[in-house]
Amino acid sequence: MDYEPVIGLETHVQLKTKSKMWCGCANAFGAPPNTNVCPVCLGLPGVLPVANEEALRLTALTGLLLNCTVSRHAKFDRKNYFYPDMPKNYQITQYDKPSTMNGSVEFEFGAGMARVRITRAHLEEDVGKNFHFDRTSGVDFNRAGVPLMEIVSEPDLTSADMAYEYLNALKDILVYGGVSDCDMEKGMVRCDVNVSVRPRGRKELGAKIEIKNMNSFSGVRRALEYEIPRQIETLEKGGKLIQSTRRWDDVAAVTEEMRTKEHAHDYRYFPEPDLMPFQPTAAWLQEVSRRVVELPLARKQRFMRDYQLPASDAQTFVWDAALGNYFEGIAKQAKNPKAAANWVINNLRAKLAESGVALGDLKFQPGAILELIELVDSGKISGKIAQDVFAETFATGDAPARIVEKKSLAQVSDTGAIEKFCEQAIMANPGPAADYRAGKMAALNFLKGQVMKLSKGKANPALVGEVLERKLKG
Ligand SMILES: [Zn+2]
Repeated sequence: MDYEPVIGLETHVQLKTKSKMWCGCANAFGAPPNTNVCPVCLGLPGVLPVANEEALRLTALTGLLLNCTVSRHAKFDRKNYFYPDMPKNYQITQYDKPSTMNGSVEFEFGAGMARVRITRAHLEEDVGKNFHFDRTSGVDFNRAGVPLMEIVSEPDLTSADMAYEYLNALKDILVYGGVSDCDMEKGMVRCDVNVSVRPRGRKELGAKIEIKNMNSFSGVRRALEYEIPRQIETLEKGGKLIQSTRRWDDVAAVTEEMRTKEHAHDYRYFPEPDLMPFQPTAAWLQEVSRRVVELPLARKQRFMRDYQLPASDAQTFVWDAALGNYFEGIAKQAKNPKAAANWVINNLRAKLAESGVALGDLKFQPGAILELIELVDSGKISGKIAQDVFAETFATGDAPARIVEKKSLAQVSDTGAIEKFCEQAIMANPGPAADYRAGKMAALNFLKGQVMKLSKGKANPALVGEVLERKLKG
């Protein structure tokens, strides 16, 4: 029988705020254990939470970026469970009235586009972190109370690869919007995966199996690549799948059962009595909507359309937004935007990486790149000389035309001079000259190279080719 997987993802993202969700402690990674804590985030008796407004704004902004409805009436609830890393013994979250609902994410998948519906994006708080040593365990509460957003997708994903691409698209959007840095190394994005399989074409869903606490996108893909065939094999052998929670063992590359439905938590949700419902005004929402940015995919498509760039160049300018903005600054005046993109991607980016100079600290004006392109297009300098000129422009800030003049780098298009160089090259290399006359076309390139050397790279290569051929044949 042919089976199809049905996958939904719950993605947890730490928000980019200065302070925690309910107190003024720093939202910062890497501090010594239990140094960013206070009575509120330690859950001591008698404290009251005060909502972080920036976290509320970032959640509403996420709603707008994900085409969600942003609720005018959201509220917070307590989710009760006991965990050593959660000092209050409950987590403040949004249960039945989340901040945003009913959105979608569009992304490139395979040769086309995919769209995954977003059920909701709601606001909650992160928990602390347990550490286990040889004989003892410790808890670091620095992370407790960090603003956390949960983005729940509909079960629209149908493969491990699709889940992987969706997560990357989601991450790109959140980074672009300034909602989160999404640094996986720092645990800023974590994921719960819901996956079931069903005979293709059947309406009802199979038993939902949840894989908890994934902390890398490639891990999600590998876990699904393991879990989907496991479920299919179980069914094909006549076995039965039951709703359960599993964990991914990255080293053994298997999922293993943690608990079944009978042992599921009863979270006993109830409205958080210490927080008012959140009812944003139209003016507040208007303010947030000013922070909406162009989405990565829209930017890619626009770069391809407006500047006739290939997808790979446009993608580079999406991933490196600052470089893309720099390119846009000159592309509007460029006769040939593709040539400008080549210079920015191949030469400028390499120089920046090699020198450690920041894009904002360049010594030269962006127009210098256009000047350089013009010098090459008009035949004044060769592409090879242009590289040297650019290196000097980069180092000194001097305009390319000035460098060409100062160092007399202008291409030699004077036929007399080139003829002389060609004669010298043929005289000095009788072997290759004879080879060419005998029909070995490759020998011409060798002789061309010799002429370029003699001219110190300044001879016009097209002219060199013509003159050499004429002399060899004559
Ligand atoms: Zn605190």
